Amino acid sequence: MRAAEKRVKRERKTIATMIAIFCRDHHGEHYGLCPSCAALHAYAEQRLDKCPFGETKPTCAKCPIHCYKPECREQVLQVMRYAGPRMLLRRPILAIRHLLDERKPPPERPRRRAKPTDRVKSSSTASANRA
Ligand SMILES: [Zn+2]
Repeated sequence: MRAAEKRVKRERKTIATMIAIFCRDHHGEHYGLCPSCAALHAYAEQRLDKCPFGETKPTCAKCPIHCYKPECREQVLQVMRYAGPRMLLRRPILAIRHLLDERKPPPERPRRRAKPTDRVKSSSTASANRA
């Protein structure tokens, strides 16, 4: 397996582990996740599937694109804030590898071809003032 694939796999494991830690401590689930955390986890997996960076994906904390819808983003931030430091104690190797991934600079945002009309709009102050 290539390093990039491993990294994406690790990101999935990291988020799953963090949600599990958070759920166990906040919702008392020792096996599996409560319905709300399970939904968050499913959402996180879905976002990873659709990540435009694909295998060059930075860790979510470093990502220039904030792809989560606001309510999920709030929930996942809470989970990361709580479970991040605790993961160091409970899953030290996974946590350290995640921290190392985090030190890598994020890749350039995947380019969408700029529409010529966008460029005209942004370079012309006259039309911007009118708008
Ligand atoms: Zn939960």
